[in-house]
Amino acid sequence: MGLEMARGRALKTATRSFRKSPDDAQRAPIAKLNLPGPKAELRFPVGQASRAFYRRFWPGTGPAEWNDWRWQMRSRIRTLDELARIFRLSEDEYAAVSRHQGALPVGITPYYASLMGLTDAHEALRRTHIMTGDEYLRGAGEDDDPLSEDHDTVAPGLVHRYPDRVLFLTTGTCSTYCRYCTRSRLVGNPGGEYHFSTRQWAEAIAYLEAHTEVRDVLLSGGDPLTLSDDKLDWLLTRLRAIPHIEFLRIGTKMPVVTPQRVTRGLIRVLKKHHPLWMSLHFTHPNELTREVTEATARLADAGVPLGSQTVLLKDINDTPETMTTLMHGLLKNRVKPYYLYQCDPIRGSAHFRTGVDKGLEIIKALRGHTTGYATPIFVIDAPGGGGKIQLAPDPVAGRDGDFLLLKNFEGDVYRYPDPNGTLGR
Ligand code: SF4
Repeated sequence: MGLEMARGRALKTATRSFRKSPDDAQRAPIAKLNLPGPKAELRFPVGQASRAFYRRFWPGTGPAEWNDWRWQMRSRIRTLDELARIFRLSEDEYAAVSRHQGALPVGITPYYASLMGLTDAHEALRRTHIMTGDEYLRGAGEDDDPLSEDHDTVAPGLVHRYPDRVLFLTTGTCSTYCRYCTRSRLVGNPGGEYHFSTRQWAEAIAYLEAHTEVRDVLLSGGDPLTLSDDKLDWLLTRLRAIPHIEFLRIGTKMPVVTPQRVTRGLIRVLKKHHPLWMSLHFTHPNELTREVTEATARLADAGVPLGSQTVLLKDINDTPETMTTLMHGLLKNRVKPYYLYQCDPIRGSAHFRTGVDKGLEIIKALRGHTTGYATPIFVIDAPGGGGKIQLAPDPVAGRDGDFLLLKNFEGDVYRYPDPNGTLGR
């Protein structure tokens, strides 16, 4: 079956199924893994700020609970009352949270909240997770699905846009909800977050089995690491059994916002399915804590190559200094800075978007001034489903006869012999 036919036929069903989200795990039982118990998680570090935070807001909680990622998920801050118990909310925040309905609710794990400003409504991480009135304004060119993912959906949760790779939306649940999320239309839907469904996954897997051109699967969502170890293992095993799939990636923010998720049990699962890569969603240097260092070290030690994805956000991380600190910190944590994204034009996100020139300014400040490993690729995901388009400062200064003129990172011009070239004419 041709891809276009598949797209046309499956789109409606796919979107509907994703939202309906029955949990029919019983239909396809998943073997239980023999995993270490909670005592093992006592060895996970707890930073001083975290300890002071949970003693203040969750008195009676000990390190074993705090380090239990399921406790973090259960204890997420979800309501106005819970927010107001912990943060001194501004009037704007209070009003915005009060009137919110629908997908992309407030959701913050206690650990991630411990990194946020409790009294300063302008603090960077807090701004990315507590809504404000700006979210209700619709800017020019904004859309609920700016990347036209629904159009390219070929089976429930499966987006096939590029020739040899697919995006597999495994769940609509995240441990924290970013206010600028590209999939804000899908994640944290009302009436219960999207639940795991083996039946839906089976449809996506059947499509992948039939499409031998697919060699690369990116598991995303939602956040795939909100799935249990058993379910993740089941899914990875099914995908690994497809001979033409060479490359598996997981896109996740969990190791950043809920680093306790990187348990020894999870590591055992991941190690079974190599080659497996991971893209970690980082926003700001304040996220680089002892806990995150432990999580990334466990992943790197397990042989999982780590890359980062960062969204450029106005007044949050849009200075060369902040971005350089973040990129250096990532390298120290064995994470290769991979993508810097211009913020997608989802509805109500104008207050997060910088001019495109800001991203180029940051790349210019990094390139040549620090190691190339610390310089991510700056991209715009083209609205309408055009895919990622890379932007970089143009180093070509012109041509002088047989010589190409090139600008270096300090703006000095150098001559390169290029008698057969046309570039720069
Ligand atoms: S973690 Fe990812 S999928 Fe979840 S809300 Fe944030 S950006 Fe969206």
